[in-house]
Amino acid sequence: MGYEKSIEAFEAAFKVIPGGVDSPVRAFKSVGGTPPFIARGEGGYLYDIDGNSYIDYVQSWGPLIFGHNDADIKAAVLAAVENGLSFGAPTTIETELAIEIVGMFDTIDKVRFVSSGTEAVMSALRLARGFTGRDDIVKFTGCYHGHSDSLLVQAGSGAATFGNPSSPGVPADLTKHTLLAQYNNIESVKKCFADSEGIACVIIEPIAGNMGLVPATEEFLEGLRALCDEYGALLIFDEVMSGFRASLTGAQGISTVKPDMVTLGKVIGAGMPVGAFGARAEIMAMLSPEGPVYQAGTLSGNPVAMAAGLASLKKLKAAPGLYDELNSRAVKLMKGFEEAAAEAGLGLVTDTRGSMFGFFFSDKPIHSFEDALGNDTATFAKFHQGMLNEGVYLACSSFEAGFISTATSDEMIEATIAAARKVMQNLGK
Ligand SMILES: *Cc1c(COP(=O)(O)O)cnc(C)c1O
Repeated sequence: MGYEKSIEAFEAAFKVIPGGVDSPVRAFKSVGGTPPFIARGEGGYLYDIDGNSYIDYVQSWGPLIFGHNDADIKAAVLAAVENGLSFGAPTTIETELAIEIVGMFDTIDKVRFVSSGTEAVMSALRLARGFTGRDDIVKFTGCYHGHSDSLLVQAGSGAATFGNPSSPGVPADLTKHTLLAQYNNIESVKKCFADSEGIACVIIEPIAGNMGLVPATEEFLEGLRALCDEYGALLIFDEVMSGFRASLTGAQGISTVKPDMVTLGKVIGAGMPVGAFGARAEIMAMLSPEGPVYQAGTLSGNPVAMAAGLASLKKLKAAPGLYDELNSRAVKLMKGFEEAAAEAGLGLVTDTRGSMFGFFFSDKPIHSFEDALGNDTATFAKFHQGMLNEGVYLACSSFEAGFISTATSDEMIEATIAAARKVMQNLGK
């Protein structure tokens, strides 16, 4: 496979865009090499500007559950474009999409649309703080909730639960209200509640997909629910990734634990920029213009983006058994990877939830970010490069989940397993 045009394109981009990319992970820094520049996508495949094709397991980092260039979604978008791109005034399609979401999630009476997952989470946190009248929030190491200031935190020194900024440019004053706990460790959450004067909310990816795929246990989620109820804090499920991916209603279709608020993104826009946050009516009534908590957006509820989302959600709803089908392919892929790893003498742990899959080069099970840090990232980097050369596009970091779309055929899964066997043989001990 040649990458000459992508190498040239990366150099040209580098001169005018920081790092050559508009979102850091795309630069392939943790796996090395040049990122292929993409010309187009069709079904389960991506095509780069050098003419290479790849079986795509990234799917724009989750949104494309029907694969690239789905005919129904494309038709809905083109029809919307005919009427104009944006009005900054109410449209009926926003209500239509809201009705779909309210009908799917029994935890959501009302929903507000925004343009990204970051915006959805940032707004949900403000609303939780406004509703409870408290400032502190609890988040988990390894969970990603977008790049807003108060969420760019890392563990402080020693046993401190209060976070420090993880990026220059974030004042410590803005992260001192963010307490950090360990995923799947209820004692660490109890410590946060003990350390704080008042916790507005606990925010969690109930099926974490941003430290690799690491689901929360049912007991852990039950423990969070009980603590939030005891202290009058809100429980927020950030289902920007897991929503419409792990099941139609994300983790909420798998767990019996009910959150107070939900954030959505990715699949909800089917490749267009859409995010959303929702809750029961009493909480949403606090939001401007119904209530005093301010939140706004020039392009929020954009009609073209709403058209993509609505077409996608209707297709999902109309396909019972879809998630079982996608999951059986995810399981087949992970079983294939496990067998390939065993043949090559490599330790591999895998998991799946609906259309999501994840794997770590590790000999030990992984239940938290602290566990995930022990995965063999050097072997992953070599595996990633090898698979790319075999025409398989996997997420370019061992701390990311992978995705199956309806366009990911059994033949593609089998070809991917054959490639993995070949690549792992070369990596084996
Ligand atoms: C992707 C993601 C976000 C951020 O969404 P953007 O659209 O990238 O701003 C937030 N939370 C979770 C769980 C995500 O996976």
